[in-house]
Amino acid sequence: MTIVSLTDVTKTYPPAAKGGAEVIAVDDVSLDIDRGDIFGIIGYSGAGKSTLVRLVNALEPATRGTIHVDGVDITALSERELRRVRGGIGMIFQQFNLFSSKTVKANIAYPLKLAGWSKADIDARVDELLRFVGLADKAKAYPEQLSGGQKQRVGIARALATRPAILLADEATSALDPQTTHEVLALLKRVNEEQGVTIIVITHEMDVIQTIATKVAVMEHGRVIEQGDVFEVFSDP
Ligand code: ADP
Ligand code: ADP
Repeated sequence: MTIVSLTDVTKTYPPAAKGGAEVIAVDDVSLDIDRGDIFGIIGYSGAGKSTLVRLVNALEPATRGTIHVDGVDITALSERELRRVRGGIGMIFQQFNLFSSKTVKANIAYPLKLAGWSKADIDARVDELLRFVGLADKAKAYPEQLSGGQKQRVGIARALATRPAILLADEATSALDPQTTHEVLALLKRVNEEQGVTIIVITHEMDVIQTIATKVAVMEHGRVIEQGDVFEVFSDP
């Protein structure tokens, strides 16, 4: 069952300089991501990966084409409906994007507060998430007191707080050393297996894809030049 589907999607930006050429960030991309997959999107810097993420997350409209998320055509929604779609997608980032002035607990509680959860429900959910990511003893710590791997585990807990069906990981391990990268990837695998969350992994690192993904799309100059099972795509001579 498809959970994210792009059909002939193009995203262009106006020329950077007057009289310059239009930037084609995503060029006629079609992509199907099945529910429960860990789907990798790999490509060099400038390939269009971040733009693709912003399109799927409904942060920017596509110039052409259609995007379905969880059965809904997001290219034809009101701002209010778009907010609901965004609520169903968790995000984690290379630089973690934690609130430095908030404790670990408050960082994880933040999206639940926004969603209007009661204090008792928030406390219970945050405790559960802290245990899941192995940071029960860090609830009162501030981000600067944590290692990179611990910060990303907080990021994962926050992203999962409202039980989204989809988790978008945008270069989520690119700031981490190899050992920590593998710990974070192992945690993402548990998120996928134990909670059934579909994970979209954006990276420029082949290793990351080979460690965790089952399917992959290779992007180059805005286009998907190859997609399929990881072992097939990467077994070509
Ligand atoms: P990646 O994430 O793979 O590094 P991006 O999606 O960031 O690639 O960028 C793809 C192309 O689109 C690049 O040429 C980039 O300069 C251009 N681009 C991205 N965002 C914008 C924007 N907001 N305005 C203009 N050009 C952009
Ligand atoms: P600033 O005020 O410096 O722009 P914020 O404190 O608003 O930063 O946000 C810090 C970072 O956390 C930003 O990069 C933002 O994208 C991210 N962020 C904000 N709200 C959320 C949220 N609910 N879930 C995940 N990330 C968020």
